[in-house]
Amino acid sequence: MEFKSPALDKLVGELQKLPGIGSKTAERLAHHILRLSREDALQMAKAIEAVKETVTYCKRCYNFAEGELCSICDDSSRDTGKICVVEQARDLAAIEKSGSYDGIYHVLLGALAPLDGIEPENLTLDGLLKRVKVEEVAEVIIATNPSFEGEGTALYLREMLLEVEGLRLTRIARGMPSGSQFEHVGRNIVSDAFEGRREMS
Ligand SMILES: [Zn+2]
Repeated sequence: MEFKSPALDKLVGELQKLPGIGSKTAERLAHHILRLSREDALQMAKAIEAVKETVTYCKRCYNFAEGELCSICDDSSRDTGKICVVEQARDLAAIEKSGSYDGIYHVLLGALAPLDGIEPENLTLDGLLKRVKVEEVAEVIIATNPSFEGEGTALYLREMLLEVEGLRLTRIARGMPSGSQFEHVGRNIVSDAFEGRREMS
């Protein structure tokens, strides 16, 4: 006989909200959690709680941070004259893993997608413009994804930043297959994309 439980159904529903998790996988995971010891299961729940309580956005670049600034903004060895603009913190993480960039970042928290209701005011564009005007920034490297939305966002950034005097504006090279994302391509490809960046202004 099949086991019915509103609590289990609720857990399946929550797991299904995760990306790439369909109903079958959610059920499998829920049953796995059910079989864990009480201690192990609660440890998992507490980890979710802790990450939501301690991790926020960096006040400066919108990367994830524990405290005011993220570990990159807090690192005095980084070249603060270069800001690399990415869509998401996971893109930043992929670039960091490649070890090919020593500047700082700005995370947009998305890409423009007017058809999905993602307009300029939904991204951290104001924060970026303010930084470029206030901080001593020599170059902004636009590293949005080579997707339809990412390219549209790059063009919008170009319009927005072109007015800033003396700023070098570059776009990472199209070394990556169109539609691919940083997190899915190798280290060398990310590194080549930075090396081959071109002027946008
Ligand atoms: Zn930061």
